[in-house]
Amino acid sequence: MPELPEVETTVRALNRAIAGRRIRSAWVGWRRLFERSPERRALPAALVGRRIYRVDRTGKFVCFRFASGATLALHQKMSGRITIGAPDQYARFTLTLDDGRQVVFSDKRKFGRGYFYRRAIGEPLTGLGPDAAALAADPAAFGQRLAARRGRIKSVLLNQAVVAGIGNIYADEILWRAKIHPVRLASVLTTVDHRRLAAATRAVLGQAMRRGGTSFRDYLDPNLRRGTYWTVRAVYQRAGEPCRRCRTSIQKATVGGRGTHYCPTCQRV
Ligand SMILES: [Zn+2]
Repeated sequence: MPELPEVETTVRALNRAIAGRRIRSAWVGWRRLFERSPERRALPAALVGRRIYRVDRTGKFVCFRFASGATLALHQKMSGRITIGAPDQYARFTLTLDDGRQVVFSDKRKFGRGYFYRRAIGEPLTGLGPDAAALAADPAAFGQRLAARRGRIKSVLLNQAVVAGIGNIYADEILWRAKIHPVRLASVLTTVDHRRLAAATRAVLGQAMRRGGTSFRDYLDPNLRRGTYWTVRAVYQRAGEPCRRCRTSIQKATVGGRGTHYCPTCQRV
């Protein structure tokens, strides 16, 4: 699933390419994409004629911003992909712009979801916690949010209501870098742990963004380019391979129902 670095890469590319363009027509090929959206009966007609003044990100949502506070938010979930170009066989939703180009939402597995807000945004965007990239700049605030939660640190990092943007790949990468075992309880971490976790979050997300994210299964950026974080990842999907710090074999376990990768030497319970 695209996480903060992939979604950030996507919105930067979209913003560069289409900010200022007007929507000439819109097509929804799979109605369930918008089944939980407000205004869903008005779609796609309610989008036509609107000018996109910015594309940005809220957590893992790609947000197209229009005048008067209107927003179209797309969540790519497992296999969603937002590209500029011709629709492929998995195209579920397209926007045709005033210069003739098309923004295409393709989704092979159909877990993706879209929301249109005519004025102020609502759920599910309003239920998100602070953005991971911003929160990690303030270790004390980061620590405070984690300390208030029951549960294991891996699960707490994945909870979008606590901190938005982190998914399974980067949670494992961040915990390895911070030398924190994924099953430790979030509530017992120390101030030193919080500082390490915040620094690791900044470092991992920063490196991943510089590399255009991770192309593991389906993710490609709007120009169909792959992200290259995969080649430098420390633990995710590296079970049995040597730790990049201490050469111990990376282990895989299940934490909160999610496949979790860690180094048993670097990350003590
Ligand atoms: Zn290690």
